[in-house]
Amino acid sequence: MAPADQAPPTTHGLEADAVSAWFGRRKVLDRVSLDMPAGQVTALIGPSGCGKSTFLRILNRMHELVPGAALAGEVRLDGVDIYHPERRLTDARKSIGMVFQKPNPFPAMSIEDNVLAGLKLTGTRVSRGDRDALVEESLRRAGLWDEVKDRLKQPGSALSGGQQQRLCIARSLAVRPEVLLMDEPCSALDPTSTRVVEDTITEIAREVTIIIVTHNMQQARRVSDRCAFFLAAQGTPGVIVEHGETQAMFDDPIDQRTADYVNGRF
Ligand code: ADP
Ligand code: MG
Repeated sequence: MAPADQAPPTTHGLEADAVSAWFGRRKVLDRVSLDMPAGQVTALIGPSGCGKSTFLRILNRMHELVPGAALAGEVRLDGVDIYHPERRLTDARKSIGMVFQKPNPFPAMSIEDNVLAGLKLTGTRVSRGDRDALVEESLRRAGLWDEVKDRLKQPGSALSGGQQQRLCIARSLAVRPEVLLMDEPCSALDPTSTRVVEDTITEIAREVTIIIVTHNMQQARRVSDRCAFFLAAQGTPGVIVEHGETQAMFDDPIDQRTADYVNGRF
């Protein structure tokens, strides 16, 4: 029997089912279906402009906020449609957090207030007595506690880029999401900070389902269990060419276009 920490996931995780997306009349995603199993890291790879960020925003109901944007298909979290009319936007936001390419802590806000900021935005209540413990736990999970525990009142802007990104991860984790979406979270970071953030991802992946967009093939190999290769041929909407277990996709891709892309021939 597998040890407890390697037990198979008991929930479905996120499922995208025939998702298409438009900006105005322009279709940018065409019937994208992808299972993103609970407790695993799924990497979305592919050239710029093929719809990876759009797909990520659809998973978090941010796409619907863009004027003129439209959507078809279904997204389910643990089997439940996140776009169901009875599901509130804040519920989706609470269960599905997001971290962006450019670290975006609130610069004037203290480190600890930054950690707690997501709670306000999602309407999550935490008693005053529990706040300190939540700040510590979230910063620990993001691998930042030891570096900031003596300076929690300093502004978020006092931190380095890599620390700011981990602060943003802590801010997301404080809401206790089931899923964390990460859009090129290391693209703005130096190699050392990148490795620290990768370690954080690997660490939290046991408890949180992670979907990460990355242009770094080594990173996709290092952090992800599964991979999906997006591609948009000239003038056509983005599709998934191939998806599967990361190692298989890198070592033995089925589609020649995948082989070319993962080997840098693009
Ligand atoms: P990727 O993240 O893979 O680089 P995006 O999802 O950002 O791709 O973009 C997919 C396509 O949608 C691109 O052609 C882009 O120009 C277009 N697009 C993205 N955001 C918008 C927007 N807000 N309005 C109009 N078109 C957009
Ligand atoms: Mg993008």
